[in-house]
Amino acid sequence: MDTAADLLFLNEEVALRINPFSEGEYLVIQTHPQEKNLKVSKRSFDYEEAKKYCELENLGHDYATFELRIIRDNKLWTVNNLGYPRTISQQQDWKVSLEYLEAIHDNDNHGEIIVCFCSYPYFHGVTAQTSSNCVTCLVDDHGREIHSCPNCQVASLQFKIKNSKFKIKDN
Ligand SMILES: [Zn+2]
Repeated sequence: MDTAADLLFLNEEVALRINPFSEGEYLVIQTHPQEKNLKVSKRSFDYEEAKKYCELENLGHDYATFELRIIRDNKLWTVNNLGYPRTISQQQDWKVSLEYLEAIHDNDNHGEIIVCFCSYPYFHGVTAQTSSNCVTCLVDDHGREIHSCPNCQVASLQFKIKNSKFKIKDN
C-alpha cells in the first residue's frame, strides 16, 4: 500500500532504516540534534568497524553528535568497551502513528510533534478551547495524555509548550 509517508523512503537517510534491524547489529546513530526519526548513519555487524565509523563521524561534524548502539530484543542498547549491550538506550526507533503525522499537516488541526531531548516524540495538540495537552503518538502506544516524558520521566513538557513555535490561536 502506498501512502504519503512512503515518499519518505526516497530519502537516503530514511532508506537506511527500511530493512528491520537484526539482533546483534551495531548502529551508529545521530544523538544530537534530535529529529523525529532515528537517524542511522551506519549499520554493521562488526563492532570495530562501527566504533571506528562512529569516531570518524564525531570528528567530522562540529554540530552533530554520534553514538554507537547495538540491537538486542528489538531495542537499542548502549555498548560497553567489548562491544556487548550495556544499558537500554534512551534513543529508540520510535514509530509515530500515521494519524499524528497526518494531523500536523492538517491546517484545521492545531498540533505538532515535539521531540523530547531524550529522543521521545509526543504530540502537542491545541483544542478549540485554547487549552493544550500532550499525548503519546506512537504506533503501539498513542492517545494517552502525558505530563512528563514516558521515556526519560523528565517533567519538561510544560516548558516545551511555552517555548513551542506553535502559537495558540485566539478566537
Ligand atoms: Zn524524554
